[in-house]
Amino acid sequence: MENEIKLIKNNDKRTDSDIEKVQEFYVFLKGTCPDKITLGDGHQPVLTDDQAFSIIWYLQEYLSVFPNQIEKCSICGELYDSSSEGYYSENRNLFMCSGCDDGIDDDEFEDTDEADSSLAE
Ligand SMILES: [Zn+2]
Repeated sequence: MENEIKLIKNNDKRTDSDIEKVQEFYVFLKGTCPDKITLGDGHQPVLTDDQAFSIIWYLQEYLSVFPNQIEKCSICGELYDSSSEGYYSENRNLFMCSGCDDGIDDDEFEDTDEADSSLAE
């Protein structure tokens, strides 16, 4: 997939993909600073998975900065590019990366244990 994120300046000559950039930002929001960045004491955000993804979602849906095909797996919590992998179950309102896709069709409503525990939240 071609990158959609347009960097205003690219001093690092980055060639990583959109999903890699968004994943790095997601990890940053959760408390891990990339090596090339230095933050002042107490400036590093340490958010939960859901809080961090809310910020990504805002940048996707409200400001159109990040491409909106990047989704968070409802089961393992990892981000994935839904244009090249994964599955969304409308009936179960469940995003699944390719590693967690249980292959169960929406019509045959039969959950795995992981899917059940995710639904119970
Ligand atoms: Zn997953």
